[in-house]
Amino acid sequence: MPVRDRPDVIVIGAGIIGCAVACELGRRGAAVRVLESRDVGGGATQASAGILAPFIESDRSRSLRTLGAESLELWDDFVARAVVDSGRDVLYERTGTLEVATDEPSMRRLEQTRSALLAAGVECRLLRAEEARAAEPSLGRTVGGALLIPSHGFAGVAALTAALRQAGAARHGVSFQTGVPARRIRARPRGGMAVETAAGTLDGDAVVLAAGSWSGGVAVEGGAPLPVRPVRGQLLHLAWIGEPLARVVWCPGCYVVPWPDGSMLVGATVEDVGFDERATVAGMAALMEAVGAVLPEARNAGFEAVRVGLRPGTPDDLPLVGPSASAPRLVYATGHYRSGVLLAPLTARLVAALMLDGREDPLLAAVAPGRFDAA
Ligand SMILES: Cc1cc2nc3c(=O)[nH]c(=O)nc-3n(C[C@H](O)[C@H](O)[C@H](O)COP(=O)(O)OP(=O)(O)OC[C@H]3O[C@@H](n4cnc5c(N)ncnc54)[C@H](O)[C@@H]3O)c2cc1C
Repeated sequence: MPVRDRPDVIVIGAGIIGCAVACELGRRGAAVRVLESRDVGGGATQASAGILAPFIESDRSRSLRTLGAESLELWDDFVARAVVDSGRDVLYERTGTLEVATDEPSMRRLEQTRSALLAAGVECRLLRAEEARAAEPSLGRTVGGALLIPSHGFAGVAALTAALRQAGAARHGVSFQTGVPARRIRARPRGGMAVETAAGTLDGDAVVLAAGSWSGGVAVEGGAPLPVRPVRGQLLHLAWIGEPLARVVWCPGCYVVPWPDGSMLVGATVEDVGFDERATVAGMAALMEAVGAVLPEARNAGFEAVRVGLRPGTPDDLPLVGPSASAPRLVYATGHYRSGVLLAPLTARLVAALMLDGREDPLLAAVAPGRFDAA
């Protein structure tokens, strides 16, 4: 995959994944151009809650847990570098998470999770109802117990994306073109790659497709559309008036992220409704019901905003990261579904190692695009 000393790479999409990849490639010496059809961070990324919690719901996929745990390790450096290189502040807290149970089956599931995590060497602690309420006094009487995982955290994603853009542009020579949709990617007969856009054709040595839910809409010569589908998520931003929460609270049907300014994020719906980016009354009502059941004071919170994003889902809920089978020097970095923020530093590192060192990290096996015929 390495093409020459200072390869010219075109990155399609400037969400958290495209920005992280572009920044890392630029930092490591590539000449990077980013094409974005909207504004930087204007896709799923602007709606994200920014939770960094690979060990919640980790029984669903061992591969995702491994990737998430690897990526979590990179976060301190990832944020520190973005802050230093951009000169901007980024909200980043490792407060831990409290996953609460409101009935016997979910309490038993938390006990199983605890045993599995301890066996894997992950620090965690099961709290009885009164211990959980001592830790978070705003929890209601419905809470029967909780699992505390101290290593988890959250980040302010809009500020982080802006910092990555600034760091890439100011320190690593990355250029960003917004309002320019890529339409088609093809290999040049005498080497190199071409990206056809609404504003003409761009030539480069290599291409990274990081267009999130819209990745299947960018045609790849000789390949079928990528199996990436949009999964809508709605999220509320509320002005919290109760006792401040000390950490992320994960409840049945929602989660809550306490921002230091006293506001909180309540997310998120998971809806298969195609490319419909509207906020709906039903979505808001479902979130309010879920949060009110665990944190009764949420019903009196002020309303600040609602955000909607389309998560890039794949048939097996795992990302698509790695070389394309249909086009040489095309690398996919998409399909991150519910974990794109958590997985951004790892994705950037894996893609840069592949493109600049020709090193195919063993972690890429689980997310290899080749597991789907189209890719
Ligand atoms: C409500 C909600 C809450 C979430 N919470 C979390 C969380 O707590 N933790 C977590 O890890 N993840 C979370 N996620 C998931 C996370 O936000 C996504 O996985 C992540 O944002 C995906 O990033 P991306 O860069 O791949 O896609 P996007 O952010 O969608 O970026 C893709 C970009 O490509 C651009 N684009 C599309 N087509 C083209 C084209 N043809 N040419 C040029 N540009 C194009 C788009 O405009 C867009 O800006 C959440 C998502 C939602 C919706």
